[in-house]
Amino acid sequence: MSKMISKDRAIFMALFFLSGSILFGAGLIIWYFMAIGAAVYADWMAAVITLLFILFAGSMTFFSAIFAYTALTGKNFGQVKGFRRVAQRLTLPVVLRTGKMLGVEKDRIVRAFVNINNEIVRNLVKGKKPESILVLLPHCLQLEDCELKLTSDIGKCVGCGKCDIKDLVEIAEKYNLAINVATGGTVARRIVKDTKPDVILAVACERDLLSGIQDTYPLPVIGFCNRRPSGECRSTRVNVSLIEDEIKKIYNDQEAI
Ligand code: SF4
Repeated sequence: MSKMISKDRAIFMALFFLSGSILFGAGLIIWYFMAIGAAVYADWMAAVITLLFILFAGSMTFFSAIFAYTALTGKNFGQVKGFRRVAQRLTLPVVLRTGKMLGVEKDRIVRAFVNINNEIVRNLVKGKKPESILVLLPHCLQLEDCELKLTSDIGKCVGCGKCDIKDLVEIAEKYNLAINVATGGTVARRIVKDTKPDVILAVACERDLLSGIQDTYPLPVIGFCNRRPSGECRSTRVNVSLIEDEIKKIYNDQEAI
C-alpha cells in the first residue's frame, strides 16, 4: 500500500467488502436454487442461469477490484465508462445501508466516499484550464455575524480575516478562478449552469456535498467537507490549503501538457 489510509476510509472499505460478500452470498444462494429448479425442466435453462450468475459475479468482481485499488492506493486505471455512476448510485447506497445496520455514523461513510471520489475524479481534471474551475462555497462558511451579502457577489468581502472566505477569495484571484457562495442546492445548480465550469471544487457538509456530486454528474466535482466548530450551518470552516493544493495540481498538470 503506497500510503496510510484514514480511519474513515478503512471503515468504508470494511463495509464495502462486507456488503460485497453479502451480495455475492445472496447471489450464490439464488443461483443455486434457481439452477436446481431449472434443471428439472431442461438442462439448457440451468446453463443460462449459471451463465447469468457468472456474468453478475464477474462484473461485480471487476468493478470491486478497480474501486478497491483506487480506494486503497489513491491511484486509478484511468476512466472506466460509467464507473463513477456505479460508485455513486450503487456502491454508496449499499455501503450506507450496511453501515446503518451496524450503527456506523453516516457522515463518516460519506466523508470517506467523497475522498475516494476525489481520487477517481482527479484523473478527469488533468489538463483542465484553471480558468474553467468553479469554487463553490456554502453560505455557512461566512462568519455568522458578518452582515455583508456575499451571495450576489463574493467580491464584497472586505477581507477582515475572521472567516475562511478572505483566503478563498485571494486564492481565486491569484489563479483567476470563478468563486461563488450558494445558499442551497437550487442556487448552486443555477451557478453551475451560468458559469459552465469544467471542474467544480465544492465545499459543503457531507450531505450537501454528496447530493451536489450526484446532481452535477458527469461534471467532475472535487469535494471538501467543512468543519463545524460552532455547530451545524454556523460559521463553518474549511482547510484552505487543501483547496489551494488541489488547484496547484490542476495548474501543474495543465502546464505539463
Ligand atoms: S472575511 Fe470578514 S468580511 Fe469577509 S466574509 Fe468573512 S467575516 Fe465577512
